[in-house]
Amino acid sequence: MHLDSREPRLGGSSVGNSTRQTRPTHGVESHGDSAPPRGAGVSPAGGEAVSLDNNAKSSRKRTDRWVARGFNWKYSELPRCRKCGRFAVTTDGTVGVRADGNSVGYAGLATCGSVWSCPVCNSRIQNVRRLEIGVALANLHANGGGAGFGAITVRHNSGQSLLQTVNVLTYGIARIARDKTVAALRAEMGYIGRVQALEVTHGAHGWHPHRHPLVMFSAPPDPGALAELHLAEFRAFAAGVIRKGYESPLDLAQVMMPVQLGSDDVLSDYFTKSSYTAEGAGWELTSSQSKSGRKKTSRTPWQLLESARTTGDMDDLELWNEYELAMKGRRALTFSRGLRDLLGIGKEATDEQIAAEEIGDRDDTGFRVMNWEPIGRNAALGAGLLNAVTPAGNWSAGREYAAKHGIEIGEV
Ligand SMILES: [Zn+2]
Repeated sequence: MHLDSREPRLGGSSVGNSTRQTRPTHGVESHGDSAPPRGAGVSPAGGEAVSLDNNAKSSRKRTDRWVARGFNWKYSELPRCRKCGRFAVTTDGTVGVRADGNSVGYAGLATCGSVWSCPVCNSRIQNVRRLEIGVALANLHANGGGAGFGAITVRHNSGQSLLQTVNVLTYGIARIARDKTVAALRAEMGYIGRVQALEVTHGAHGWHPHRHPLVMFSAPPDPGALAELHLAEFRAFAAGVIRKGYESPLDLAQVMMPVQLGSDDVLSDYFTKSSYTAEGAGWELTSSQSKSGRKKTSRTPWQLLESARTTGDMDDLELWNEYELAMKGRRALTFSRGLRDLLGIGKEATDEQIAAEEIGDRDDTGFRVMNWEPIGRNAALGAGLLNAVTPAGNWSAGREYAAKHGIEIGEV
């Protein structure tokens, strides 16, 4: 069976059904601050050490995310990010601690749902998106489809604000969809839609927002045709950018290449690689900058946050705040209309919904934090308590941790 842009038939296929299996795992994966790293449960022979290693790594990452979010409590420009994880939203002010075997997390805490600014919510959201892209690509592959993957950027300089530059980028991209040559070429190639990731870095030439489109077709695209389509898209985009008073983007900075489907994890990881990491590793299409040992010229927003937090650099804090305000409310990942249905990944949950989703249910609650204030003052404690309990529900270790750190708890 082949994909057909006019007749969405994928939803009922056996591959499409696999989405139903991914849904329940949302609760597991969506709490990136509570889920074990991928493969943590799959131990090779003698794998206990590996598993412990993964737990330690997972704990450390959780602490990093919580501590970075704790910085936002004081310094974010976004009111919701100042509250995320800092306050209980229950009527009695208590917060449940839950573990369901796969994840450990809290129930009854404020969440902000910011994929751009919040390290904790970002992790949850990107985990769900990563799964969705994985299923979408598997379905595309199983049905004989093909894809091209690229990058679109604008030329910019350090005098331009992020808000201005990202708006010009968005405008230029909207022009692509309205271009007649592009439309004709797409129709010839069996175009079915696209997923686009929006990313931002900051470097010597200022803000560098860019889009990564993953363009999908009902059959693997001919490389020549893909190159022709790319050229037409570039022309439409460049005309839009110039119209907005920006310099023509460099052809070299725009790429589009055929994708080898079947190694889908790589792409889905790639698409959600703006996941929070303090190092910001693997953000760029080529991470040559970080590998070469040369002075890093480009930083991710998470690195700006990290620098502001650890060094108190006011310039970096200013950049971080500008970024927060410019990106607020934008989508990090955009599916073209009808594509989600066609690829069997169903209705899209909003970032806010994903971030607010709590793991397990009341029965998974081991004890309650009666007074959140000590954690609201010291974010590391919130991660520490989860690290002690672990997804397996080590409640005695949790009680011990709470007692040691002055966190008042009550039984369920
Ligand atoms: Zn948040």
